[in-house]
Formats: sequence, C-alpha cells, structure tokens
Amino acid sequence: MTEISPQFCAVWPEGFRAAASFTFDLDAEAAVLTAVSGSASRMSVMSHQEYGPLVGVPRLLRLLSRLGIQSTFFVPGYTAHRYPNVVRSIVAEGHEIAHHGYLHEPLGGVDEASEIEYLERGLNALAEVAGVRPLGYRAPMWELNYRSPRLLHDRDFLYDSSLMNGDAPYELSVEGRSASIVEIPINWGFDDWEQYCYIPDAFGSGVIESPAKTEEMWLLDLAAMREEGGCFVHTSHPFLSGRPARAAALGRVMAETIATGDVWVATMSEIALHVRSQQLQPYEMQPPLLDFRGGRPVTDS
Ligand SMILES: [Zn+2]
Repeated sequence: MTEISPQFCAVWPEGFRAAASFTFDLDAEAAVLTAVSGSASRMSVMSHQEYGPLVGVPRLLRLLSRLGIQSTFFVPGYTAHRYPNVVRSIVAEGHEIAHHGYLHEPLGGVDEASEIEYLERGLNALAEVAGVRPLGYRAPMWELNYRSPRLLHDRDFLYDSSLMNGDAPYELSVEGRSASIVEIPINWGFDDWEQYCYIPDAFGSGVIESPAKTEEMWLLDLAAMREEGGCFVHTSHPFLSGRPARAAALGRVMAETIATGDVWVATMSEIALHVRSQQLQPYEMQPPLLDFRGGRPVTDS
C-alpha cells in the first residue's frame, strides 16, 4: 500500500506566511445535557454552563472588538433556541456562525438517519434564530463519522473542522463522490477544554490549569505554526475562557498573533474560501482495515 498524505494549503494571501483563526464552541448547557443524563436538574452545574452565553460571550465580544478580530462561533441549535439574543449579538458584531449539532449530540455509533436529524435540526435553529445558513461544521466532541463529509456536502457546507491530521487545511474527499469539502484541522492542544474544564461527575479531573501556562503553551504553538507556514486554529468555550483571567490570557495570545504582522487572522469561512481557491488535490481518508486473513490487514477484499 502506498501512503498518500493530504495536499495541504501552503500558500496564504499575499503578505502572510501563516494563518490563524480564533474560534469558539458555544456549548453552554448542551454538552453536559447529552453527556450526563439528569444534569438538567443540577442547578449549580447549569449555572456553570450558562455563564458562557450570559457573561463569557459579552466579555469575549468586547475583547474581539478591541482587537479588531473577526471570529467563528460554532453554535449548537439548542444554544441558539435558549439564548437567541446572545447569538444575535454575535451576528451583529460581524462574526461567523457555524454548525455544532443541535443538542451537542456525539456522532460516535449513531446511524445515518439520526446524524441527518441532528444536522437538519441545527440548520433550522440557526436559520430561525439568526437568519444564518452556515458554511461550516464542527462535530460535537470533535467526533466525525466517515460518512459525515458526504452528509455535509449534500447540505452545501463548504468546510468541516473536526479532524486532526494536519497543520494546515486541505480538500477532503466525499465518500463515493468526485467531490470534496475543505477540512480545517484542529487538535486538543489548541483547545481550552483540556486546560480548564472541570464539572463534577461529568468532565475533567479537578485539575484546572493557570492561564499563564496556557498562554505560554499557545504562544509556543503559534510561533511554531508561523515558522511552519501552517494554520493555527484555536478553540475556546465561553463557559471556560469567558472567565476574567482566562479571557485576558487569550487576549494576549490574540494580540501577539496580530503583532507578528505576517499571520493572517481570519474567520474559518474566509480560510475555507481561500483554500478552495487553491484547487488542491482532494485527499481520501480511509478507515483502518481490521480483516487479518493471512496474518495482515487485507486490502483487496
Ligand atoms: Zn462542543
């Protein structure tokens, strides 16, 4: 078998040697509601989650406005229904709204009909609340199925941002078609969840990292991605990074990114449209083979 790597985007708009996008996953209650049954009745846990839209988002919008950054918010449909004015305030500031499931439903193990239902319910909610037809998608819990790119392509999505196999975007082949969607890779290291998230009996170990540590880590990541000419896609959750010291640290990472002068800070759809213009060869990602007839994975059955 010949190993084929994606053809990664290596050219950025004139004057820029790398790209960066500061994205937000506006999970609010939805991520906990689907992960732990009965959590809707836990008032303190729900208060921890509503901090995101009610307190975190206004603070983060002020930060983005002060720095002149346009961002992408991945919004579960349920969050849009529960906080319509918050979501509209994000749109009013010129930021991009993208799809993040309806009730933040994990896709692992679900059948195609259920996955389609989550997509459609999310699309309807974003249209109803914000008048938006999103170009982008990020799977809840960052867990995509091999069929998902086809379902997204069928619904005119331009890009996905749920996979982790590159430092720069590429064209991802759609299952069984001569078509592709743009994939803008993420990774757990550029995410605030692993640093700050602790919800008893739901997520995290109880260890909450210092914003000074995350700032240092993300600035190292940024510097290395800039050197490599890659795309630094950072993810924050307003219920986590909306807290004062964390928002301040995130703001310093954003300011440093702008100060480089040669890193293109853009929304995810701006990056996806740029990648599409590059006419890259689509990459077909294959699932690992687990048929071991003859003592090794069978490739031709
Ligand atoms: Zn999420």
